[in-house]
Amino acid sequence: MATVRFNALQNLVERQPVEVTRDANVTSDYFGKLVFDRHKMQKYLSKDAFKAVVNAVDNATTIDRKMADQVATGMKAWAIENGATHYTHWFHPLTDGTAEKHDAFIDLDGQGGVVEGFSGKLLAQQEPDASSFPSGGIRQTFEARGYTAWDVSSPAFIVGTTLCIPTIFISYTGEALDYKTPLLRASAAVDKAAVAVCQYFDKNVSKVQANLGWEQEYFLVDAGLYQARPDLALTGRTLMGHSSSKDQQLDDHYFGSIPSRVTAYMIDLENECYRLGIPAKTRHNEVAPNQFELAPIYEELNLANDHNQLLMDIMKKIARRHGFRVLFHEKPFAGINGSGKHNNWSLTTNTGVNLYSPGKNPKSNLQFLTFVVNTLKAVFDNQDLLRASILTASNQHRLGANEAPPSIISAFLGSEVSKMLDHIENTVGDGKMTPDEKTAIKMDIGRLPEILLDNTDRNRTSPFAFTGNRFEFRAVGSSVNSGSAMIALNTAVAKQLQLFKVDVDKLIEEGIKKDEAIFQVLKKLIIESKAIRFDGNGYSDEWVQEAAERGLTNIGSVPEALEAYADERVIKMFDEMNVLSPVELEGRAEVEYEKFMKKIQIEARVLGDLAINHIVPTAVKYQTMLIENVKGIKDIFSEEEFEQLAGARKELIKTISGHISAVKAKVHEMIEARKVANVIEGEREKAYAYDKTVSPYLEDIRYHIDKLELIVDNELWPLPKYRELLFSR
Ligand code: ADP
Ligand code: MG
Repeated sequence: MATVRFNALQNLVERQPVEVTRDANVTSDYFGKLVFDRHKMQKYLSKDAFKAVVNAVDNATTIDRKMADQVATGMKAWAIENGATHYTHWFHPLTDGTAEKHDAFIDLDGQGGVVEGFSGKLLAQQEPDASSFPSGGIRQTFEARGYTAWDVSSPAFIVGTTLCIPTIFISYTGEALDYKTPLLRASAAVDKAAVAVCQYFDKNVSKVQANLGWEQEYFLVDAGLYQARPDLALTGRTLMGHSSSKDQQLDDHYFGSIPSRVTAYMIDLENECYRLGIPAKTRHNEVAPNQFELAPIYEELNLANDHNQLLMDIMKKIARRHGFRVLFHEKPFAGINGSGKHNNWSLTTNTGVNLYSPGKNPKSNLQFLTFVVNTLKAVFDNQDLLRASILTASNQHRLGANEAPPSIISAFLGSEVSKMLDHIENTVGDGKMTPDEKTAIKMDIGRLPEILLDNTDRNRTSPFAFTGNRFEFRAVGSSVNSGSAMIALNTAVAKQLQLFKVDVDKLIEEGIKKDEAIFQVLKKLIIESKAIRFDGNGYSDEWVQEAAERGLTNIGSVPEALEAYADERVIKMFDEMNVLSPVELEGRAEVEYEKFMKKIQIEARVLGDLAINHIVPTAVKYQTMLIENVKGIKDIFSEEEFEQLAGARKELIKTISGHISAVKAKVHEMIEARKVANVIEGEREKAYAYDKTVSPYLEDIRYHIDKLELIVDNELWPLPKYRELLFSR
């Protein structure tokens, strides 16, 4: 009997929502109570120490050891008052998730006792024994040790009884081994390049900040059912399972009323978010059954990304409290929608201007168009890099699977902005503009804001969409660190803004007036990047065809997509923008090839196990029951009656045999393919082998198992079915 499955289903009947209470009725009363933010710093730090931290955050100055000691003392006092007994450097290695290693706040006092200790040295830098984190060979080449170093720009926080200090993770010789280091560098690069361009429009701009508003999609699955699905537990997705007779056809889950057990979970989660200063704003049901989303108010890029990583961590913990498991996999269930993490991205200035918001006059609108056009050009030039930054073993199942953008990168602008760009393209001549032309185009640009406000049309099929005051990179996967995508995007835009400035300055030097020079360069960029603009249905087959005609790339294979990191232009760009050195970039690509290979390897092993140990024996058991039954009929009835009564069953026995044989044969072949792949030298080559020779078996084997699921007695089937996983809550 399939007891694990049936026990889990039985328990489900008795599950009740967990009682939850918020820390206070009014959110602002406790928002950020577990964060060592500026308010708390003011209270716990000396004036000088406070100033040093603020200066370090706002102006990227360094904090000397003496000040660091003072900060550490204040931080420790606050943390202990709030129940912390330990501290940890908290960082984002190149795996999925974050890393921490806790140390107690104790020092021996020399009298046989202990005192609570914590110093500036321990705050500023540590050397965790983290040699098992992936580095793509960087640490072997340079120095085995990895260091964590305090990221002053992201405030420390308390989880449970541990003070968490956000840090970067680098090798002894300074190579980045994490997502945060290059993310900070990319923010700095885009800041510098954007400030320089803003000078054409407003001399008061001295800082440009990149912002990120992520939208985290996820599934909740009952913990008991999850445990009965080894594939979910070990790979994050179902490797088999026939589709449920009902799933999302009726669209009755999207924005539907939230089930009470889930509501309790969400309230609990938001409560924790608020204590940790994560500005959770929106919650709703998503398209697929048991799929949900949480979106915060957007924040500065690095902080926003820390918050997303922290959120994913607390989501897992809180889900357990409510008898759920949370799934971040991009495609946990075949045939229904997967999960993404849309990255809403914008740039804002110290003068309070969003550079992607149309302004109030022609001048600020020209600035707006400048940033939009340069972003388009950056996306056009870097389509392969952007794809590489988001394509993973799990996200490959989502992209192109009709509810998500395909592996073609395109940008949606909406009709009004598109018209504006067409207008510039058609009006700006190659020679000098006449005064009339100038007036006409400026008038037109001046009209933009009113038009836009009423026309923020949306296109949910575009991987990179302009949504009125920001771009939304929708192809990012739900399970990943957004750092990867944001490093690529910000670096690409920074580089393009730099090129733009060189072009404009050159024209100005040749005696062309500033505005006209800007128009001329914009026109050139609009023409060059035209192919990337697409406002139609990105899920359609026609688009695949048209994109090919336009010369856009369409790469669904992860190893092939990762080749973008080896492109000479990309290597040079990352190097010149001081985001990733060639060595760091190569290391990163290595890590990605390795991650891809390992994920497929694990899936293949798990599927092989389940197929042989769970599915084949179950199918054989049922087949035996049928054989017994047929034999019995034969004993009782005449030859003629027998054919009539048992003929169909005999066919079924044959069908089952066919599927069993196919499963066994294909599992065997898959193992053989793995053996060949495993001895190939080099992560890249191995990844290709897994992609081409192992991966296809996953689908093949699944096909036969899913057929068996439809035939075999429900009572015997060992694994929770899709209808149970998706409709139990
Ligand atoms: P939708 O699903 O329609 O895109 P959501 O409300 O789910 O809308 O998510 C919108 C996200 O965009 C939120 O995280 C929000 O904070 C973010 N956002 C809004 N304005 C900006 C902006 N100017 N820059 C960056 N992110 C933004
Ligand atoms: Mg969105």
